[in-house]
Amino acid sequence: MKELSRLLGRIPGSATMAVSEKARQMNAAGKDVIALGGGDPDFDTPDHIVAAAFAAIENGATHYPPSKGIPEMLTAIAAKMARDNNVEVDPSSQIIISPGAKWALHLALSSVTNPGDEILYLEPCWPSYPPMITLSGGTPVPVSLSPADNYTISADAIRACVSDRSKALMVNSPNNPTGRVMTAEEADAVVEVALEHDLYVLADEIYEHLIFDDRRNISLAALPGMAERTLTINGMSKAYAMTGWRMGWLAAPAQIVGLANKLSSQTISSAANFSMHASAAALNGPQDCVAEMCASYAKRRDFMVEALNAIDGVHCRDIEGAFYLFPSFPGSARDSLDVAQFLIEEAEVAGTPGIAFGSTSGSHIRFSIARSMYDLERSVERLARVAPRL
Ligand code: PMP
Ligand code: GLU
Repeated sequence: MKELSRLLGRIPGSATMAVSEKARQMNAAGKDVIALGGGDPDFDTPDHIVAAAFAAIENGATHYPPSKGIPEMLTAIAAKMARDNNVEVDPSSQIIISPGAKWALHLALSSVTNPGDEILYLEPCWPSYPPMITLSGGTPVPVSLSPADNYTISADAIRACVSDRSKALMVNSPNNPTGRVMTAEEADAVVEVALEHDLYVLADEIYEHLIFDDRRNISLAALPGMAERTLTINGMSKAYAMTGWRMGWLAAPAQIVGLANKLSSQTISSAANFSMHASAAALNGPQDCVAEMCASYAKRRDFMVEALNAIDGVHCRDIEGAFYLFPSFPGSARDSLDVAQFLIEEAEVAGTPGIAFGSTSGSHIRFSIARSMYDLERSVERLARVAPRL
C-alpha cells in the first residue's frame, strides 16, 4: 500500500481527549474513575439556552446556515465584544463562527501561515497548540515560561525566541493549564514585541469569564495598534457549559476572516444552525448563570488548593482563572506520564500528564476542577491515600 499522510503521522492525538476517553472506558468496564482529565464543565447548559435551541429547531433552523454564521449570532458576538472586551468589530465582515474554538484556532492559524513561518506560543500551553501550528504548515516555537516566577510573560522572553521567520504569537489568558491571568504589564510586553517585530497575535480568550478575585480579562485587540494584527478566538464551551454544542468564533480583520471563510466553506460548510441560535440567546440573555458557575469554580479552587497542599509530597500553586490545577510532586522520582498512570490505576483519579503541556512541565499533573465537590472531595481522599507511594 502507498504511504499515508506524513503530516498527520507526525502529530500526536489530543492528550486531554485521550485521558477523558481512558477514564470513560475504565468506567464502562465497571471501575469508579474520577475523571479530572478533560476540561468539561459538570454543569448542564442553562435551561434558557436549551429552550432556545428547541425553539430554533421547531422554527426550521435545520437547514444550511451562511458559512460565516447566522446574522443573529454574528450581531450578538459583536455586541458582546463591544460590551465585555472594548473591541469594535463589524459583524458582517470581521467574525466567523466555528464548531468550537478549536476550529477557530485552526482557521486563524491557517489564515496567517505560509510554509516555513514560525509561530511562537507561550509554554506551558494547551496541548493542541503545537500540532495545530504544524497542521497549518508552520513551525511551532515555544517561549518557555517558568513556574519559579509564576509563569510571568516578559518582552525579553518572547524577543529571545523571535527570528526573521516569526509570523505570529499565540497567547492564552486565562491560561490552560497554569491558571494565570495576564496582567496589564504582561499584555504590554506582548504588544511591545508584536509591534516591534510585526507579529500577528492569536488571543485565545476561551476562559475569559472564568476569572477569580476581582481580576479582569485584558483583550489584546483592544490595545493601541493591536486591532489590525490580533485574531481573537473565543467560544461558548467553558463559560456557558456548552462543550457539546461545538460553538466558537474567530474575530479578526476582514481580510483574514475572508480567508478563514474560504477554508470553512470548503471543509465544514458552517457550524450547526440551531447551536448558533442557542448561542445568540446565551450571549444576549441574562449572564447570572455565568457568574454563578464561576463562583462555584472559585469555591472548588479554594477547597482543592488547600486540600492538595495539605498532602505530603504535593505542591499546588493557587490559580487566578480557568478551571485547572497544575500541581507538582517534588519528592517523587516519577515523570508526569508515570504519575498519571499510577494515579489512574492506584487511586482511580484521572489527570492529564504535564508533559502534554510542554517539555518544562514534565513533573506536573493537570487536574480539572470543573467536577462536583463530591468528586473533588473523593479525589483528594484517594490522592492522600496513595501519595506516600508516589
Ligand atoms: N483553547 C483552549 C485554551 C482550550 O483549553 C480549549 C479546550 N476546550 C479550546 C481552546 C477549545 O475549546 P472548544 O473547541 O470546546 O471551544
Ligand atoms: N480544552 C479542554 C481540555 O484542555 C477539553 C479537551 C480538548 O479539547 O483538549 O481538557
